[in-house]
Amino acid sequence: MTTQASSASQTSDERVLHVLEFPGGYTRSTGPVIGRFLTGLRSGRIYGVRTPDGKVLIPPTEYDPVTAAALGAADEDWVEVGPAGTVTSWTWVDEPRGDHPLDRPFAWALIRPDGADTALLHVVDSGSKAAMATGMRVHATWRAERTGSVKDIAAFAPGEGPAEVPVLAGEAELEPVSVVTLPHRLEYRLRGGTVWNHFIDGMAVGQIRGTRCAACGKVYVPPRGACPADGLPATEWVDLPDTGVLTTFAVNNVPAAGAPEVPFISGYVLLDGADIAMLVLVSDVPWQDVRIGMRVRAVWVPEAERTRSVKNLKWFAPSGEPDVPYERFEEYV
Ligand SMILES: [Zn+2]
Repeated sequence: MTTQASSASQTSDERVLHVLEFPGGYTRSTGPVIGRFLTGLRSGRIYGVRTPDGKVLIPPTEYDPVTAAALGAADEDWVEVGPAGTVTSWTWVDEPRGDHPLDRPFAWALIRPDGADTALLHVVDSGSKAAMATGMRVHATWRAERTGSVKDIAAFAPGEGPAEVPVLAGEAELEPVSVVTLPHRLEYRLRGGTVWNHFIDGMAVGQIRGTRCAACGKVYVPPRGACPADGLPATEWVDLPDTGVLTTFAVNNVPAAGAPEVPFISGYVLLDGADIAMLVLVSDVPWQDVRIGMRVRAVWVPEAERTRSVKNLKWFAPSGEPDVPYERFEEYV
């Protein structure tokens, strides 16, 4: 995984490619049931959990899907299943993507391990689509380096085995799995359209552009192609000043992709002449001194470094003018 939190670049068809990625991924606690399942995978064993009516569920669930009773509290509720099993359903992948488990064609399959009553979604490395069939027998193959993840099973292979589990060095000293880190990545392409492009063209030269509704006269920034109140085109462009009033704010102590180091301040600024507040960062001020009603001014990246991006507007900083009484902007809070 890269450490890049977010990025945008122009694609060959003039769309903009956006990538959102949380550096390091999401860290989550597993809870005792999933933790035990993952700890089992790390040791090269597949464990299901038994329900009060005797069914064995794989992957194990924390609650019985029928009665909602809590599951897995007692050791005897845990059942080792597999490592061989039966394919109950499958689909073929001719062209694996970069983040797929195998770099060659494979099948995604639902596999019911022997001794289980439900099926596990995993990969069958059969070599060819012709070798796949519902009802075929498969067995787990294991990675040498296992971390407590469903990916510790490298793939399922046709046949009954042998299911050799490579020894994991230092396993005896490892704590049970209780936390997992999940990568998170979102990639999408978009074409801005005329309104957004004109707004971005303004950003490239340090100008904030809004649109005005011909019917109600309200000014929207970032610009809207249509007035959300009237549903009519908002086609008149308005150059707005880069000053305004902070209508509300938050001190953020949780790191966020693309945001400054914590604690950082996000807030809504009502630009002078606008009728909607804009979500921005607030900086150049100790967080204890930030207040609603504070007058602020945009801080831009130096002219030579500007790009066609909203990131040209770094943040808003106190302008030093007197605070604005709440009554003057309460309509916009
Ligand atoms: Zn309107």
